[in-house]
Amino acid sequence: MRAAVFHHSYEPLSIEDVPMPAVGAHDVKVKIQTCSICHTDMQFIDQGMAPNMKPPIILGHEIAGIVEETGSEVKKFMAGDRVILPATITCNHCLACKSWNETHCENIRRIGVDCNGGFAEYIVVPDFHPYRLPYEYSFEAGSLISNVLVGAYHVVFDRINIRAGENVVIFGSGGFGLSILQMAKLRDAKVTMVDIFDWKLEKALKLGANHVLNSNKVDICEEAIIDTVGGKPDIVIETIGAPRTLLQSMNALKKGGRLVLCGLTDNALPFLMGRIIGNEISLIGAAGAPRRKIPEIIHLLEDKKISLNNMVTKRYDLEHINEGINTLRMGQTIRTVIYPFGINNI
Ligand SMILES: [Zn+2]
Ligand SMILES: [Zn+2]
Repeated sequence: MRAAVFHHSYEPLSIEDVPMPAVGAHDVKVKIQTCSICHTDMQFIDQGMAPNMKPPIILGHEIAGIVEETGSEVKKFMAGDRVILPATITCNHCLACKSWNETHCENIRRIGVDCNGGFAEYIVVPDFHPYRLPYEYSFEAGSLISNVLVGAYHVVFDRINIRAGENVVIFGSGGFGLSILQMAKLRDAKVTMVDIFDWKLEKALKLGANHVLNSNKVDICEEAIIDTVGGKPDIVIETIGAPRTLLQSMNALKKGGRLVLCGLTDNALPFLMGRIIGNEISLIGAAGAPRRKIPEIIHLLEDKKISLNNMVTKRYDLEHINEGINTLRMGQTIRTVIYPFGINNI
């Protein structure tokens, strides 16, 4: 099968023929229709690998597709089923999984990091892993549900538990930032989005942002935040992982505020210890995307409480994936989607 293979950081993915993965008795083989590109994928290429990554490996963890083949013992799925593949395979039997903390699973396998991912024509996963993708939703929607929407839900409801009326500032108006915005609005938070691109901030306003700030035009100092938000925010969510935005986040927060870090990075980040300690700021990390929340996301879409309009802005076939990754690198996209069998072939 064709796949985009990651061999080394600091070089483009290599489009090549690789062996078709074998299907075990309890496995499901999925023909991948869409796999969106996440910041994490780009980070492995541009900044370096995750500690236990063993290339060559196929990246990509935001996958939707059609069941092509099932193992002899599989009862839950059959060929032709439309499925979403969550980004992490959790074991369902460790203490963390049993206590509904599956993002802390002791046996977690991250698709596209610990095992091959979705920038390929096919993938094989255990039969307990896929979720059904209802017919009214596109494969693109499935890719967005699989990771970025579940991850945003996890940030807002599991990690921070935003309360009604709280003032929230989100740094970064990309796919993750816009998804967090939508989830925060479900809690009636007042949300201010910060980005360097006006066109992304316009999307944020369409999706319910109360205020927007372009940090290329306005110095994001305490005064600017207070003027725009009407006070110091209760919560700042940093989705970029850049030293400058982290400093701005710490400076903006009110005393006793919560600083939420979800911009994964290899940058050495400056922490203002005096301010964190003196202002009793709570630091909260958020990284997971619990797959058991996928049905909840589908309900929110059905009830039109969240929207996927405007989220996918670029599409590429597998052969042009490096151009697709470049759209992320240049900040030209909200979400870029890869179609392994071609954009017009599904
Ligand atoms: Zn992702
Ligand atoms: Zn587990």
